[in-house]
Amino acid sequence: MPNDTFPSPDTTPAFLAALVEYTDDGVVSTDLSGKVRTWNAGAERIFGYTSKEMVGRTLSILMPGGTGAFTPVLDRLRAGEQLDRIEAVRIAKDGRLVHVSLMGTAVRDGNGQVVGALAVIRDISAQKRSDLQREATEARWRAIIDSAVDAIVVIDVRGRIEAFNRSAERMFGYTEEEMIGRTVNTLMPSPYREEHDGYLMRYLHTGEQRIIGIGREVTGLRKDGSTLPVHLSVGEWQVGGERHFTGILHDLTPRMQLEERLREQTALARLGEMAAVIAHEIKNPLAAVRGAIQVIGGRLPAGSKDAPVVKEIVARLDALNDLIKDLLLFARTPQPRVGSVAVLALIQMTLELLSKDPSFAGVRTLVAGDAPLIKGDAELLKIVLQNLFINAAQAMQGHGEIRVTIVPGDTIHEVHVIDTGPGIPSDVREKLFRPFFTTKSRGTGLGLSIARRLLEAHGGSIAVASPEGGGTHVTVTLPAL
Ligand code: ADP
Ligand code: MG
Repeated sequence: MPNDTFPSPDTTPAFLAALVEYTDDGVVSTDLSGKVRTWNAGAERIFGYTSKEMVGRTLSILMPGGTGAFTPVLDRLRAGEQLDRIEAVRIAKDGRLVHVSLMGTAVRDGNGQVVGALAVIRDISAQKRSDLQREATEARWRAIIDSAVDAIVVIDVRGRIEAFNRSAERMFGYTEEEMIGRTVNTLMPSPYREEHDGYLMRYLHTGEQRIIGIGREVTGLRKDGSTLPVHLSVGEWQVGGERHFTGILHDLTPRMQLEERLREQTALARLGEMAAVIAHEIKNPLAAVRGAIQVIGGRLPAGSKDAPVVKEIVARLDALNDLIKDLLLFARTPQPRVGSVAVLALIQMTLELLSKDPSFAGVRTLVAGDAPLIKGDAELLKIVLQNLFINAAQAMQGHGEIRVTIVPGDTIHEVHVIDTGPGIPSDVREKLFRPFFTTKSRGTGLGLSIARRLLEAHGGSIAVASPEGGGTHVTVTLPAL
């Protein structure tokens, strides 16, 4: 029932007075000079000053900047401007800083003249504090997830990405900006991509946990289309009744590579043992066969048409013998008997020896650099150098130049072997040091593997590059004496 005697609020001074008295907000009016005329209970609660203390005083005592800071506000109100929800900081009686949101308006007399100002002030300190706290929490949380080595991806119940940390950016090649709002399926290759929605729905409906709290190995899909093995663990949390999932992804590539290398090494070690046994068993009979064939060859009448056949047999037997020597060297790489080696002299001697070989007939050799001493086993280093020089000559098909430069250093010396051959295509370069990898019809594919093993046994190294302009550049390092 409408009550006819109920006063109309906008016309009843008592009603307005009650409103001002009981509101939580501060309601303050001033004259044109900024002196307080009225000060309600709300203002008293906010600032700690009583109405008695404030009426007649200028409002500038609430301003952190003193009188000067108050003048522009007053000027704007005097000009009839309306101030709407302005956030400001004021000083309470006890010195506390109070965050307020204020609305201000001019007070006019009957003729419309501006005679003062009225402000409604709300204390927003608590809200500010919780904003700050939230910001701090957010910043702390962000710092933690961004410093994590593992990728962290937060999704909502529909699988839409809400956070994507630095490691995730590195792992998948997307920026967080690109990924926010996109579905997490983007990071999965088929068929997981299609199955994922089903997983999520089933979990939400049945609570059946297939991954949450368990973790498992899955495959990730990068922006460039490549995939990577990852270990995924998922956590769930709720805010305001809404579920979110945090996925932590650990890149398994390095572990897989390590396992692969370990498997390779184990396989190689077994192969090596077997090769060593077989080689030993073959070596002696082979020598006997070679001797017998040579005896038969010696008995052939001069000009016999079987003579070239015998020669060919001996050549094949020699090649077989070389393979067996390589196999043994590779399978049972000897420990270097370290002494002082003059590396320049060793290089010159090795080249001198090879120059007698017909395959070096069209090869020019050039040796330059200092003559430092190294710590090594001259016999084994000769094998390394021979392998490199023969590779160069074979690559150049017997025609070109091999340049050897020695660059001495404090603790290691470098030996550069550069040829003018065709160089090495990138797909071959990856496999150079793989045992038995060869591009030659009669190669063993063991030369570089042996070279690397021998150099590493010396505490040295070998690297092969194929510069733009063609040719191959092998860099060997050896410890200085
Ligand atoms: P092999 O000489 O028996 O083939 P290596 O281990 O010595 O085995 O070399 C492996 C492969 O590396 C060679 O078959 C060749 O394709 C490549 N290679 C090595 N040295 C050179 C070079 N100087 N120039 C071009 N290719 C080379
Ligand atoms: Mg070789």
